[in-house]
Amino acid sequence: MIRTKIVATMGPAVAEVATLLELFRAGVDICRLNFSHGTLDDHLLMLRKIREAAAMHDQPVGILGDLCGPKIRLGKVIEVEGKGGMPIEVGDELTLQRAPIDGANGVVSTIFPQMVDDVQIGHRVLIEDGLLRFICIEKNYNHLVLKCTDGGVLKSAKGINLPDTVVNTPAITEKDWRDADWAVENDLDYLALSFVRSAEDLSLLRQHLVNKVSDIHLIAKIEKPEAVRNIDAIIDNCDGLMVARGDLGVEMDVAQVPIIQKDLIRRCQLAGKPVIVATQMLQSMIEESSPTRAEVSDVANAIFDGTDAVMLSGETSVGKFPVQTVRTMAHIAEITEAYLATIPPKAEPQLTIKTLPLSAAMAKGVWQIVQDMELKLVCVWSQTGSTARLFSKYRMSVPIVALSSDHRALRRMALHYGVIPQEMPPPEHFNGLIAWVDNFVRGKKMAKTGDRIVIVAGLSMTAPGTVNNLVIQTVGEEVPKGDKDFPRLAHRMERG
Ligand code: ATP
Ligand code: MG
Ligand code: MG
Repeated sequence: MIRTKIVATMGPAVAEVATLLELFRAGVDICRLNFSHGTLDDHLLMLRKIREAAAMHDQPVGILGDLCGPKIRLGKVIEVEGKGGMPIEVGDELTLQRAPIDGANGVVSTIFPQMVDDVQIGHRVLIEDGLLRFICIEKNYNHLVLKCTDGGVLKSAKGINLPDTVVNTPAITEKDWRDADWAVENDLDYLALSFVRSAEDLSLLRQHLVNKVSDIHLIAKIEKPEAVRNIDAIIDNCDGLMVARGDLGVEMDVAQVPIIQKDLIRRCQLAGKPVIVATQMLQSMIEESSPTRAEVSDVANAIFDGTDAVMLSGETSVGKFPVQTVRTMAHIAEITEAYLATIPPKAEPQLTIKTLPLSAAMAKGVWQIVQDMELKLVCVWSQTGSTARLFSKYRMSVPIVALSSDHRALRRMALHYGVIPQEMPPPEHFNGLIAWVDNFVRGKKMAKTGDRIVIVAGLSMTAPGTVNNLVIQTVGEEVPKGDKDFPRLAHRMERG
């Protein structure tokens, strides 16, 4: 089983339960519902299928809803027979009008008609992550005339970036609020917000979720230069980041993207928060059955950088080879991780977070034990998932089995590098946990009699942040019954 987590975007290419199950078995841990495409009814249908397939899978599958944020998009574009959209060539003129229209014959509209006011003559208008490029050459109240400088095929709902234009869009749109409520009602695990500019954007959303008594975790998509400038406050205010390279590469100099990727991953490591690298990871596999060499390198390098998860977008949502793409990604991860396991870590990982000091100290200690001893795995009781999240950041050379009785926590843990979430009823005492784990790892053939494993938990198993017990257990060795022996054992350990 690979440690790197895979996020797959849902769409028509994977709309069958059987296909979804294949995706999960190939290595998908998190399903992404992108609210930019399709209706809430479409997403509900997909959600039901995901849950049906997940019920047949032996690992928890998390669900991430992706809010559009203030992203400007094309309206509907009618497909020219056999062309997949509306073809447009260098030098062609495109009219972008204020009034909504089903795009045809060189006339289109957008979901944000005010852009007709904001764009000035000479400004660049980029479509589909900058694949198609235009310059505004004429404008009046009703429309803009754009001249094409890089051609392609215009398709419905593709994103529009305006690097030269100041646009007055709210951080969270009416549609986002509706989609967020839907995500809460349908018990999604993560909610990503696109085009985050400041920590306050996230606070707005957080407050709304708190009012709804929702514990959905918030992912900030980093794709604006403002977000990069405000990154520390943003990391403080979210539960994880997505390096949204598609828009980032258009909003900023594309050559900055690899550097920003490394920087964001490093900051998430320090902050003890998960990070996802997204966009174009195996892009060519939308059409082809095998990836380019550059794409393979990209996936491997994201893992070297220390990402928790790698994401697939169009490759799984609309691609011709969704399952094969996931298999390819998992295979790259497997080979990369096997190599990583052979090289000693350059330095001890650091965590700078001040909350959860016990869990952080335990993670550090266990990392050292894993360096010094021959161990099969680390097992940690993590009811809310927080302890598992911190342990994950140490990128141990052995798997971390994270136990909880909370299904939501288990699904969220599906995002953390190296963490294998496992449901377990809350044990009454630490000895009960050791006995259960011993049995479990042998049953699953994760370790055999005589292997050593580390088990970590709190004395109070259900109180979060109180991880204060650690045992190095030899698998198959008798575990004292009841809770009497354990406090004495802990005492002895403390005195050396
Ligand atoms: P974002 O900036 O949020 O990533 P995006 O437009 O790039 O938005 P992706 O989820 O990255 O969207 O997917 C890439 C492409 O795949 C989309 O532009 C769209 O053409 C197609 N796609 C994605 N999801 C769907 C869907 N549910 N239905 C139809 N097409 C989809
Ligand atoms: Mg984006
Ligand atoms: Mg995208």
